[in-house]
Amino acid sequence: MIAFDNSYARLPARFYTRQAPVPVAAPERIVVNETLARELGIDPAELSADLLTGNRVPEGAEPLAQVYSGHQFGNWAGQLGDGRAILLGEVVGARGRRDIVLKGAGRTPYSRGGDGRAWLGPVLREYVVSEAMAALGIPTTRALGAALTGEEVIRERPFPGAVLARVAASHIRVGTFQHFAAAGDREALAILTDYTLARHYPEAEGPLGLLGAAMRAQADLVARWLGVGFIHGVMNTDNMALSGETIDYGPCAFMDAFTPGQVYSSIDHMGRYAYNAQPTIAHWNLARLAEALLPLINSDEQEAIAAAQDVLAGFGEMFERAHLAVFRAKLGLARREPGDKALIEGLLGRMASSRADFTLTFRALATTGDAGEHIRDAGAWESWVPDWRARLQREQGDSGAPARRMRAANPAFIPRNHQVEAVIEAALEGDFAPFHRLGTVLARPFDDQPEARDLSLPPKPGEEVRQTFCGT
Ligand code: AMP
Ligand code: MG
Repeated sequence: MIAFDNSYARLPARFYTRQAPVPVAAPERIVVNETLARELGIDPAELSADLLTGNRVPEGAEPLAQVYSGHQFGNWAGQLGDGRAILLGEVVGARGRRDIVLKGAGRTPYSRGGDGRAWLGPVLREYVVSEAMAALGIPTTRALGAALTGEEVIRERPFPGAVLARVAASHIRVGTFQHFAAAGDREALAILTDYTLARHYPEAEGPLGLLGAAMRAQADLVARWLGVGFIHGVMNTDNMALSGETIDYGPCAFMDAFTPGQVYSSIDHMGRYAYNAQPTIAHWNLARLAEALLPLINSDEQEAIAAAQDVLAGFGEMFERAHLAVFRAKLGLARREPGDKALIEGLLGRMASSRADFTLTFRALATTGDAGEHIRDAGAWESWVPDWRARLQREQGDSGAPARRMRAANPAFIPRNHQVEAVIEAALEGDFAPFHRLGTVLARPFDDQPEARDLSLPPKPGEEVRQTFCGT
């Protein structure tokens, strides 16, 4: 028995369409996340192939597809919605209320031209990357399990179909607010605002309180992304969660060589969602949230705009503070000093011009204190390191503290693109062992795991993945 308590299904009918998953031919379990299941109070044995694919709808579930709208690549796309995801319902686990969604569970009224399905590649990709993010301590949706459907999905060619069972603090998006704002539905906006405040930010109040809380969560989230070299790839307003979790893993990627303007997504021609553009885009998306909330902020539009702008104006400083906190920890610094920003920028600039591997460089700071083999431009490392060493001298506490801080802030393992691709290639040949191995190693990203050294290495010249594709 899964103890569902479906608060979203109790919201007005215009928030969703009730829709059961579309059954599949031959479900087969790939993986179940037993630890997460138990955290949610679910017996892992309950998560059968039939349940994971939607062939058996568990008692207490009230399956539905959520409606939302959004801006895609900066353009208003109008109504969107769960086109290939079904919310089974909610459970209240050890960390609070969580949605359980089946991604790839069949067509819904919001599928437009799509088939409502997912293929094995993106399902494994989201499984590996979202679980790695969780292990890195970064807010994210989780993967509860994955199963094959026994059906083919046609993309560039036929692929094995699969379903991902996803867990999230909620699936409320900036686009959910935009949806009701665009419809001029002030009543729904007010209901959604109260619901989101109660579910995620009970200490905040009113639309401006929600905006401020969402802003803080996004500033913190994007700072953490930058701290591990993560590029989301499709930060459309429908892919930004009010909970502050990373959501909708599509053409996302972790960088190998540090390149501030790095883009991997095949559809991001303008570099809108490049690594270093992410803070600006988060701010832009929050401005769209603020716009949607205007009717609730003040009946006088000019006053509402002024009040919203007041809140939004704090983003830059909020982000900078979060970014500094992340990178201070990566340099082993606990105290704050005015020169820290320049010290961090000095390192990042040298890493960029040397095309240093992002992860290995920071891990080297933590383990040996010498990243000279990664920052290879002549004199670059030598011209930076004295300032860092002098700065470390000014840290208080025992002399081992900075190294411990750095080990906990600089992972040895990230889900590198070429390894995720290799896992998918093997799985397409029926071999899931590399998928399981990668997952096991990435569950402890801050531990040295000498037996998994191969998984800590950047791609060799022929192995580089230069482009990633949407998860469709
Ligand atoms: P994304 O940016 O990947 O989150 O997807 C954008 C929109 O396309 C969302 O509304 C999805 O529900 C929808 N979508 C993506 N893939 C499919 C599919 N295979 N079938 C139906 N809808 C889809
Ligand atoms: Mg999406």
